[in-house]
Formats: sequence, C-alpha cells, structure tokens
Amino acid sequence: MNVVVVGGGLAAANAVTELRAQGHSGDIVVVGGESHPPYERPPLSKGLLLGSAEPESALVHPREWYDEQQVDLRTDALATGIDLDRRRVRVGADELPYDRLLLATGATPRHLPMADASHAPVVHLRTLDDALALRERLTEGTRIAIIGAGWIGLEVASAARQRGALVTVLESAPLPLRRVLGDEVATVFADLHRRHGVDLRLGVQVAGIERTDDGVVVHVEGGDPVVADALLVAVGVAPADELAARAGLAVDNGILVDAWLRTSDPHVFAAGDVANHDHPVLGTRIRVEHWDTAIQHGRQVARVMLGGDDAYARLPYFFTDQYDLGMEYVGHVDPHAGYDGLVVRGDLSARQASVLWLSGERVVAGLHLNDWDAIEPLRAVVGGPVTDAVRDPAVPLADLA
Ligand SMILES: Cc1cc2nc3c(=O)[nH]c(=O)nc-3n(C[C@H](O)[C@H](O)[C@H](O)COP(=O)(O)OP(=O)(O)OC[C@H]3O[C@@H](n4cnc5c(N)ncnc54)[C@H](O)[C@@H]3O)c2cc1C
Repeated sequence: MNVVVVGGGLAAANAVTELRAQGHSGDIVVVGGESHPPYERPPLSKGLLLGSAEPESALVHPREWYDEQQVDLRTDALATGIDLDRRRVRVGADELPYDRLLLATGATPRHLPMADASHAPVVHLRTLDDALALRERLTEGTRIAIIGAGWIGLEVASAARQRGALVTVLESAPLPLRRVLGDEVATVFADLHRRHGVDLRLGVQVAGIERTDDGVVVHVEGGDPVVADALLVAVGVAPADELAARAGLAVDNGILVDAWLRTSDPHVFAAGDVANHDHPVLGTRIRVEHWDTAIQHGRQVARVMLGGDDAYARLPYFFTDQYDLGMEYVGHVDPHAGYDGLVVRGDLSARQASVLWLSGERVVAGLHLNDWDAIEPLRAVVGGPVTDAVRDPAVPLADLA
C-alpha cells in the first residue's frame, strides 16, 4: 500500500510514525509546504519567543529519521491538485500515485484586510519562521500591539512582557477567551495580564490601521489610538481546506470526516486542524485546533488506513502556559447549548484551582490551573454524570475518579 501525506505538520508526522510503528512497509511520501521537517507549534508562542527553546527542540523527529524510516519527506513542496479518480496528487511537475491519501494541511491565520492594506509592520504567528522573526522584534521597550485576545494573542503578550516589551491587546469581546472558558475563568486571564502590565482593552472595535514612519497606529472606535512598533494580528485561523474542496471532497469549515477520519472519498483521510470530525462521543461535528488532537488524529488515522476499525472517540484536550500560569483543559462545551453549572475547587483568584462545567446531567468539560495532578482525575470525570459529589466542591477531585 502506497501512502501519500499532504501537509508536513504534527498530524502528518504522527501518522507516518504510527504507520511505521505498526509495521507498514509500503511507500510513504510526505509533501510539506514549509522548509522545515514537521515540528510542534506550541513552543512558537512560548519558549521559542522567550529564548528558552531553540527550533531543533520543536522538531517531531530530526530530518535523518525520515531517511532511516524510508519516508520520502519533501519539504518546500506544495500539493496543488488531487485527481480522486486516478488517485494522483500533483506536486510541481510530479504526479504522485496513492492507495491511501492523508490530508493534514492544518490551518492558516485569518487576516484583517485593513491591516494588510495598511503596509504597516503587521505580523501573524503560525510558522517557525514567523516565530523567529517575531522574536527579533520582542526587545526591551519595543511597543507591540496585538489584535485578538485568544490563545496566541495572550501567549505572545506573556512572552513579550517577559522580554520587556510594552504590550497593548485589543479585543472586541468583553473578556478574553470568553467563548471557550466563560466569564468566571476568562476573568482570571484578564486579571493575570493586567497584573503583568499588559494594557488590555476589552470590548473595543478597531476602526483603522495606519502605517507611520517607524511603525503603526491602530485607531480604536471611541478610544485612544495605539501607537506601536509592530502589530500582531491574532484573530484565529481558517482550515486549509481549499485543495480538498477543489478536488471535490465534502468540505464545510474543514474537510468533513466521519468518526474514523474518512473523507467523502474512500481512499482519502483527513486529520488535525483541517478535519471537521463527526465525534462519536460528543454527538456533534467538531474541528479542534489543538496539539493533542493533531497527534492523536495522526496516530488513529494511520491505524484506520491499515484496517483498524476503532472510531476516534478521544475528548478534546489543550493546554496553555502564560507567565506562571499553566492550564490544561479537557472536554467540550457546546457553544450553542452552553453550560448550566460550574463547580470550582480551590481558588480561581489565586490561580490554583480546578473547574468542572456541567450541562444537564453531564460533566461536559474541566480544567485545572497550576494543579498538575488534576488532569487524570479530570479525564475520568469529564463525560460522566453529574453526581452530588461532583457538585460538592468540598469533595476532592481525586475522589471523584
Ligand atoms: C503559535 C502556536 C502556538 C500553539 N500553542 C498551542 C498550545 O499551547 N496548546 C495546544 O493544544 N495547541 C497549540 N497550538 C495548536 C497546534 O499547534 C495545532 O493544533 C497543530 O499544529 C495542528 O497540527 P496539523 O498537523 O493539523 O497542522 P499544522 O501544524 O498547521 O501543519 C500543516 C502543514 O501543512 C502544510 N500545508 C498546507 N497545505 C499544504 C499543501 N497544499 N501542500 C503541502 N503542504 C501543505 C502547512 O504548510 C503546514 O506546515 C498552537 C499553534 C500555534 C500556531
């Protein structure tokens, strides 16, 4: 069996690793659009910006590993077309034949047209090269404006402050991360950043972006303009699903896959940020833009390609590190259904706590702040029923498992 993987990121690397680990000896070609072998992105907004990590440490495997494993890793190579009938992928002048094709093309940062049109020093953060360029800018006293108080915006704000930069964050919502975390936990993040000297402006609308001789001015409706040396636009990502759509695969906010990560074509699979997955436990479609899902999708899709019949049923998991706050989250609060109960164990304001979100009779999600023993008990409880013990913050989390 001949496997082609399009997208040289985390899901791709984990898929080929698992294929070889499971004893697959057929040809594997990985077509990656970047110049680096597959790497992990979480350090890009954390250790790499802080200077405590270097690019090599982010690689999933050193480049030699692909040779040793007889994986034909093609970097700086873009797949430009797929012929589903003939089972061929176009890469430059080549046509690569496949028996199984994995699309792991990830996601790309959303742009703000007014930022692009301004020709000001505007940056986005997705790739290793983006991170290395941003790191150069984050020096003592540099003024950084950030549009978007999501995970990337806040992690960069944290790294920038720790490097002595002056940081203003502009966010249209009344609290950062509110859609995912709800008001109670989102407030913790707002306080954290303000305590570290970030000028966090919430509920604001950007009215214009202007280039100046030495930087950029961001105009804010009804507020003071923000003068900065550089502007990071961190307003989310869009799934890189155009290649799949052009080929005629079913696409809707990502490539539609069933519970087994199979697309609408029986020979083609999708994994990671680009996959809009029919989750068998959550009972809904979900596209997860997180590290753990890319890894686990990659491994699972390899097993399915080799004939495995287990659906991908793992609950979403993600983490963040900002200043001295570490957080891990597991589960999913349906943004439409919301939640009707929240149980806090510990002290949110001291950033030493765990939180459970309840919806009807189910614990739908949980997180911890700086409580590193909590993730396994959280995993055991999330998805399960709401009991009296779950509702009682006096019952330790570990006793619920
Ligand atoms: C700065 C940053 C920090 C993050 N921090 C965290 C974190 O703390 N916790 C967490 O849970 N998650 C984090 N994430 C998210 C996590 O990194 C992603 O979910 C993960 O990288 C997704 O992996 P992927 O393989 O699906 O896609 P990607 O890693 O995006 O890889 C896709 C690759 O495919 C390539 N590609 C696309 N189209 C083509 C084509 N046509 N031909 C060839 N190649 C193509 C792209 O160039 C890219 O290299 C972070 C992401 C970023 C950007």
